[in-house]
Amino acid sequence: MGKVLIIGAGGVGTVVAHKVAQNPDVFTDIMIASRTKSKCDSVVKAIGNPNIKTAQVDADQVDELVALFSSFQPDIVINVALPYQDLTIMEACLKTGVNYLDTANYEPKDVAHFEYSWQWAYKKRFEDAGLTAILGCGFDPGVSGVYTAYAAKHHFDEIQYLDIVDCNAGNHHKAFATNFNPEINIREITQNGRYYENGQWVTTKPLEIHKALTYPNIGPRDSYLLYHEELESLVKNFPTIKRARFWMTFGQEYLTHLRVIQNIGMARIDEVEYNGMKIVPLQFLKAVLPNPQDLGENYDGETSIGCRIRGLKDGKEHTYYIYNNCSHQAAYKETGMQGVSYTTGVPAMIGAMMFLKGLWKRPGVWNVEEFDPDPFMEQLNKQGLPWHEIMDGDLEL
Ligand code: NDP
Repeated sequence: MGKVLIIGAGGVGTVVAHKVAQNPDVFTDIMIASRTKSKCDSVVKAIGNPNIKTAQVDADQVDELVALFSSFQPDIVINVALPYQDLTIMEACLKTGVNYLDTANYEPKDVAHFEYSWQWAYKKRFEDAGLTAILGCGFDPGVSGVYTAYAAKHHFDEIQYLDIVDCNAGNHHKAFATNFNPEINIREITQNGRYYENGQWVTTKPLEIHKALTYPNIGPRDSYLLYHEELESLVKNFPTIKRARFWMTFGQEYLTHLRVIQNIGMARIDEVEYNGMKIVPLQFLKAVLPNPQDLGENYDGETSIGCRIRGLKDGKEHTYYIYNNCSHQAAYKETGMQGVSYTTGVPAMIGAMMFLKGLWKRPGVWNVEEFDPDPFMEQLNKQGLPWHEIMDGDLEL
């Protein structure tokens, strides 16, 4: 059906490559390219399919991307490098007529700030070129938006309150480690919190608001209000929403380490002089922390991510909780990666599948909730991320 180019061979890229290879009826030609080619070769070896091509590319360089796209001629690029590369990859797609999908919105390297404006600005250019760009197609953002669209389509006339709840109840048995790229992860968590209420954004201090929430099959976990990128698109695409928030669980041990990292300046993203060279402390920290890709083997427990929604149907108030639980060990057995990479990589593959099947094909730049959720939801059940619903239960929120 189509040719796919995966950019990035980290935890998420590895899962995407496995899942793409498991669907040969849709993905007929596969290439994985990244900054370090040997990592792409290792992924191909682990999958055991010598037909998957590999390449080296610096995705910060539009010219290098253009040369690669022109020679491989993919139908779609799955960008699972870092958020810093989103715009260069989108530029290269426009120059070569390739469709685009990613899992995280653009973030400049020198400011810890993310928002969709930079990528939404490409809408007209993708429209004019007849190309589709699908933004934020991991789990959150990604499945969180598809769940919301599904709830709006099938269960509510009006969604009024949306809480996205993200629990990782896994244990990797390390004193401190992040579950995806440490630099991106620490930048996200140390930002101010932010949520949407009655048409306005309310800012909180980092991790200021928290409460215990009960997760299915897991139990109560302290959950912290964070700003997360999908809130920006969801309140725009579902204007009946009165309040939208995002919650993530953290253990005390994790938070203590994080506080120390910040207090001693290791979370800084500006350059400092060290031994006659300039280094960025947070990038140095990444080099000494456990590699998220290596956590899988000893990771037990599961993740539970979902949407808790309150709204109106036929004039009556209802609640709805839709979620997936993912076992770290099951993810590791299937792909060699832990659950957080798995829950991101599977939806990215499904998004590309939706495009190649012509179900999510529409010139322009789109967030996932702007497409029909039904075929995507059907694939979640088939591809390893089954979902469950609780109607009219206690949302705790
Ligand atoms: P990793 O750090 O494990 O992997 C990133 C990969 O991108 C590495 O292979 C890296 O190469 C490569 N890369 C980095 N810079 C470049 C460049 N300039 N050119 C080419 N390749 C480059 O990250 P993850 O796999 O954990 O995360 C991937 C993406 O997924 C991130 O954008 C992250 O924000 C997103 N994410 C989204 C989630 C969601 O639910 N929506 C959840 C978790 C992650 P090298 O190995 O040489 O460093």
